[in-house]
Amino acid sequence: MRLSRYYAPTLKESPAEAEVVSHKLLLRAGMIRKLTAGIYTYLPLGLRAINKFSRIVREEMDRAGALETLMPAVQPGDLWKESGRWEHYGKELLRFTDRHDRESCLGPTHEEVVTDLVRHEIRSYRQLPINLFQIQTKFRDEIRPRFGLMRGREFIMKDGYSFDTGDSGADASYMSMYNAYNSIFERVGLKFKSVSADSGSIGGSFSHEFMVLADTGEDTIVTCPDCTYAANLEKAETACPRPVSTSGNAAAASGPNDLDDSGDSPQHTIKTELYVADNAMVAVFLRQDRQCNEVKLKNFLGAVDVRPATPEEEEKAHRDRQNGSTGKVVDKYLADHELLGISDWIAEDDALAERLHHADMDRNARIDAFADLRQACPGDACPQCGAPLVFTRGIEVGHIFKLGLKYSKAMNATFLDENGEQQFMCMGCYGIGISRVIAASIEQNNDDAGIIFPPAIAPFEVMLINLNPHDEEVTKVADFLYETLRKQGTDVLYDDRDERPGVKFNDADLMGFPMQVTLGRKGMDGGMVETKNRRTGEKGRLSLDNFAGEFSAWRDSVWQDWGLKQP
Ligand code: ATP
Ligand code: MG
Repeated sequence: MRLSRYYAPTLKESPAEAEVVSHKLLLRAGMIRKLTAGIYTYLPLGLRAINKFSRIVREEMDRAGALETLMPAVQPGDLWKESGRWEHYGKELLRFTDRHDRESCLGPTHEEVVTDLVRHEIRSYRQLPINLFQIQTKFRDEIRPRFGLMRGREFIMKDGYSFDTGDSGADASYMSMYNAYNSIFERVGLKFKSVSADSGSIGGSFSHEFMVLADTGEDTIVTCPDCTYAANLEKAETACPRPVSTSGNAAAASGPNDLDDSGDSPQHTIKTELYVADNAMVAVFLRQDRQCNEVKLKNFLGAVDVRPATPEEEEKAHRDRQNGSTGKVVDKYLADHELLGISDWIAEDDALAERLHHADMDRNARIDAFADLRQACPGDACPQCGAPLVFTRGIEVGHIFKLGLKYSKAMNATFLDENGEQQFMCMGCYGIGISRVIAASIEQNNDDAGIIFPPAIAPFEVMLINLNPHDEEVTKVADFLYETLRKQGTDVLYDDRDERPGVKFNDADLMGFPMQVTLGRKGMDGGMVETKNRRTGEKGRLSLDNFAGEFSAWRDSVWQDWGLKQP
């Protein structure tokens, strides 16, 4: 491709709207343009990166036996009513009615559609397992679309769904996707980590998120430096410092208090937080400097919905207590297991916490249960090995989840087993944020000059620069190099524009292809082209006489440098 005929409108300045580096650079390098909030056009360069990544995804899905389909973007509301999500999904689901007054929505995900497909097609255990995936445009009316491709309202996702005859098959499908996801992100050349994520009612280790490590990530990853433990913050467990009796109440632990100096420091003060869990009022006792983890609370209670009490609800609970209301103000009292067996606590100045004032938590019969309810903190003991946990930032690029029977039961997706008995299919779902991966790759690899693309997803592998487009002899040789690279099957963008060398070098660095090959009058007279490895900045020379061979060797070394194998 010749840059003179290409459409890659680069910008000198960062547009004011862009906050994070990937958003800035995607705009500046002419890869995307905004249509409206959270909705972007992929320009030719941006689309090439998307397509290169999609190809890797397709190859790995194929290897794992998943079959590509393409499902509709517009979905009937009735299906969402069957699954129960019409009520629960919230405003991210863009709903509308068509001309016949039928309720519809734009698909934010496709569990309903794929379950509907499979329940009408699959009859027998002989047709299972089956794993269907697609690469498709999703719409989620995100409350705060931001950071360009990172959190769009319209974005490209690979979503896949597996259907098995039972639990063990579903676990095997899950593991096969877990392995495929690791291969995909390894092939891209990104530093990433798979972490256990909250799997809600299913429990166990049946949800993993794939996180690209980047300081600008929105997610917190909790890892142990000494063992394999890795979880997202929602899920990260805190070790119980003292034994808990099976009844869930405190055991009479008499272990030493790990807080040596008393006083009214936050570590010695207990606070109360009020939550509403499916209409029940729940009080949670925590150390004042801790944060309640709502996901843990929700899972512990087995609740569908948990939210902090509103100031009005808190006020009312407060008033009712002070008025000595006989009605039950709080339905349940829970305490974080860290409070177990500790006696010298000071309760926060709060009427609800009075019950704990200088109380011995062990013997306080009014705690319904002690449990792991707080957010983990850096330095907490690893739940597996006890080493201090470390926090890092990440960008969620993939999420795999064992769904079990959730959708097949709600939507009656059944098959006949070996005995002719009807059974529900056991499902899993697997997502990758295709467009987000491009942004995440830039967050992880960039410098002041621009993007640094890993060769596997770079829009082009090489930028070939002709420094003297007015010099016929140089241009003839540059054209020849261009043809040589093309014949070799190298993705090359040829900067044949009538521009100053400075402009060309800046654009090449900004677009960030891994290799730059530059030809000018001086080099040509010496029988040489100059090369630059975009990532390391390392410069070199290739002889014009043996260009094809020397380029191939250099290309191999650049891929190797990234730790990547050429496809
Ligand atoms: P997040 O917590 O970031 O909102 P999610 O849990 O809603 O993500 P999933 O429903 O698991 O995401 O979707 C699968 C993948 O799609 C995510 O891992 C992420 O990479 C991508 N994704 C989700 N929402 C967006 C978005 N608004 N813009 C771009 N990519 C997204
Ligand atoms: Mg989301």
